[in-house]
Amino acid sequence: MLYNSTRDNNAVVSSSEAIASGISKEGGLFVPQSVPALSAEDFANMKALDYVGRANYVFRNFLTDFTEEELKYCTEGAYLGSFDEDRPAPLKALNEKVNILELWHGPTCAFKDLALQILPYLLTTSAKKVGGGKKTVILVATSGDTGKAALEGFKDVKDTEIMVFYPNDGVSAMQQLQMNTQAGENVYVCAINGNFDDAQTGVKTIFTNDEVKTLLDKNNMGFSSANSINWGRLAPQIIYYISSYLDLLDKGEDYLKDGFNVVVPTGNFGNILAAYYAKEMGVPINKLICASNSNNVLTDFINTGTYDRNRAFYTTISPSMDILISSNLERMLYELTGHDDKQVSAWQNSLKNEGKYTVTPEILAKLKDIFYGGCCDEEGTAETIKNTFKKHGYLIDTHTSVAVNVYGKYVEETGDDRPVVIASTASPYKFANSVLEALGLEVPADEFEAVELLSNKTNTAVPAPISALKSATVRFSNVCNKEDMNKVVLDRLGIKG
Ligand SMILES: *Cc1c(COP(=O)(O)O)cnc(C)c1O
Repeated sequence: MLYNSTRDNNAVVSSSEAIASGISKEGGLFVPQSVPALSAEDFANMKALDYVGRANYVFRNFLTDFTEEELKYCTEGAYLGSFDEDRPAPLKALNEKVNILELWHGPTCAFKDLALQILPYLLTTSAKKVGGGKKTVILVATSGDTGKAALEGFKDVKDTEIMVFYPNDGVSAMQQLQMNTQAGENVYVCAINGNFDDAQTGVKTIFTNDEVKTLLDKNNMGFSSANSINWGRLAPQIIYYISSYLDLLDKGEDYLKDGFNVVVPTGNFGNILAAYYAKEMGVPINKLICASNSNNVLTDFINTGTYDRNRAFYTTISPSMDILISSNLERMLYELTGHDDKQVSAWQNSLKNEGKYTVTPEILAKLKDIFYGGCCDEEGTAETIKNTFKKHGYLIDTHTSVAVNVYGKYVEETGDDRPVVIASTASPYKFANSVLEALGLEVPADEFEAVELLSNKTNTAVPAPISALKSATVRFSNVCNKEDMNKVVLDRLGIKG
């Protein structure tokens, strides 16, 4: 299996090269040249396996230059011992039709753990194959959850340094505390005066800056990315959609006779793109329902064919989805156009220069055939948390709530009530204040009192990683301007510019 860049079909790399470099040198993202198909026999084989076994099965198709031993080293290291009961992605049925895919049983209580627990293994294995003993410097732009999950995954991993940038005032108090208390010798955390898109653009600019790259090279270092622009982030996410399908098969032969829908609370378009690849591989997914918060640039795109980031940016109670440039959409465009690198480059240029682009009517028709786009405002998010708890006794976080809300709109609009899997992307305890408020409860000033109160009022358990934060030491309080990110990086690495 080889990979192409979305902006240059002549850039062809192996999976380890794609993972080690993170992004193609002209700024494109790596995409498999073809999507492997799984047969009925494959699914039957995988059904009998645990999560690690299922992961190996899927990776064998994508990471073809990894040996069987290397794959096992990666999957066992990532998925054994770091998730509740070694079940990274359990399904919970709310009723006959609605199934919640709980993706927050890892060390940082968000779905990012499913990819970021394994990325350090994939990356160091890849770097050994292609990098020739260079130190890997991981730069991360985060809207909250990626940063912590990446720090936790990479802490004290040999021959790596990790630096995380997050928008000051753009993450929840708990998210900020999670990052600023991070342990490890090779970690660094800095807030920037700007929003997530500024952080992401800043990181992308550093990645593609030749001068900086040369400086790193001289010091025997190389950049890579832990953001979902890295194929090593995306591939692991395909696994849990396949795994959820295998689990749904337990419900009997008839249950999936018309397939099932998948709802994903979306920001950067990584998670839902993984669901798309699962569908392409043969999982009987009907519609992919893309749920956005008030930053509904994707809803408009799916409905009109125009992607336009020239709009107000809202800071919401689902901060991990406060994004106006969904970088993984670029991969989707590449797939929809049948790998047309020129067309994708033109649209990305237009996005960069004018902040928008419009796809052709044919591409729009294809997009609408696969996706449904919907959005939910702050009030709707809060109401859905309250109603879901009242109706099902099930507590959801603010991001999952956006998904549940948009799913309701989808059913109302289309009448399509076939079985559904809703991706639950974070524990409600990461956003305890907003969840308490949604339930109509008084929010205490202290974050940990809020957590206690939420637990008492809803009779749900506080995840251990959240309780542990209470006694953790704050190690970082850095803030910088977005123009200075370059210098911050070089200073931290001890390189003179
Ligand atoms: C990152 C994140 C999302 C958005 O996922 P994308 O892959 O960026 O679309 C949704 N919910 C939570 C809790 C997240 O951390």
